[in-house]
Amino acid sequence: MTYRADNARYDTMQYRRSGRSGLKLPVVSLGLWQNFGGTRDYPGAMEILGYAFDRGITHFDLANNYGPPAGSAEELFGQVLARDFRPYRDEMIISTKAGYNMWPGPYGEWGSRKYMLASLDQSLKRMGLDYVDIFYSHRFDPETPLEETMGALAHAVRSGKALYVGISSYPEKETREAHRILKEMGVATTIHQPSYSMINRWIENDHTIEACGELGIGVIAFSPLAQGVLSGKYNSNTSKEGTRGANPNGSLRASHIEPRVLAAVDKVGEIARQRGQSMVQLALAWVLRRPEMTSALIGVRTLEQLKDNLGVLDNMELSPEEIAAIDDATRD
Ligand code: NDP
Repeated sequence: MTYRADNARYDTMQYRRSGRSGLKLPVVSLGLWQNFGGTRDYPGAMEILGYAFDRGITHFDLANNYGPPAGSAEELFGQVLARDFRPYRDEMIISTKAGYNMWPGPYGEWGSRKYMLASLDQSLKRMGLDYVDIFYSHRFDPETPLEETMGALAHAVRSGKALYVGISSYPEKETREAHRILKEMGVATTIHQPSYSMINRWIENDHTIEACGELGIGVIAFSPLAQGVLSGKYNSNTSKEGTRGANPNGSLRASHIEPRVLAAVDKVGEIARQRGQSMVQLALAWVLRRPEMTSALIGVRTLEQLKDNLGVLDNMELSPEEIAAIDDATRD
């Protein structure tokens, strides 16, 4: 049966402006990094994606290399668009990125114009789209002039293949440089996508988040649950089968769940209990407490996880005392 979106889809979600742009994003966005690749069956993926859109999640985040295998998340999302989401294209913000290794040889990664624009064309083809809403430089390339990488982003906008552009994981100095170069080209830096959570505060420590606020760049935090660590599941003795931590070659490494981290997570769990909220909901409310923050970009493996995470909308307010207690629990 073809998907039909819920008429109540805009009733509970909150939307925030990305920096000083005209673009609004839902406070919770959904990424397709790990759970929507080649091994995901269509009904299973559609159950989650359809529910997300029904609850006002208008923003779906992809990249050329999401899968596994690389490219398969965009292919799957292309099928979803073709079969179910097409009538709602204008209600959606679809992003993709280029920067990490995608094909062999010197033009298959980093930030050259050659790679960036070829990759964008490939992404559009995989998703069956004429344009993406946001195209990102996925990582700063220390060997390519920033003018060239930003020039490729500006070209993507001028050619109509991207409506907005962003940068991901750029440190403060490079963020300022990228913004300056794009501005000279008449293109806004609409959004920055860094990792950020209670237990990963690099954008606070190097002041990237303040730079974004100052320059009017929106911020969308990836891995706000620290890849699931901030659910508390790695603190318990229950089976980890099927979780990200169960894969010895996966993205969740031993250092992410070392005893120091798990002790901090225990304390955060206590604060969540006192608030009558799940730990993931508290973790998302915490990320969203900053005025610079446009959206928390989550990943989910199951529909139940998505439902749990969306519960953040019921209580996003944090008192100064709670923020201080979280600081005490989680700062190094
Ligand atoms: P999260 O921190 O939200 O981690 C998601 C994982 O946490 C899930 O796959 C699941 O793992 C677990 N989880 C989620 N909700 C719950 C819950 N309620 N209870 C228990 N466990 C839960 O984010 P991701 O690391 O997945 O990143 C999110 C998105 O950010 C990506 O999809 C991608 O779009 C983007 N991203 C961007 C990067 C960049 O370089 N720009 C890099 C990485 C991500 P499990 O499988 O163990 O259940």
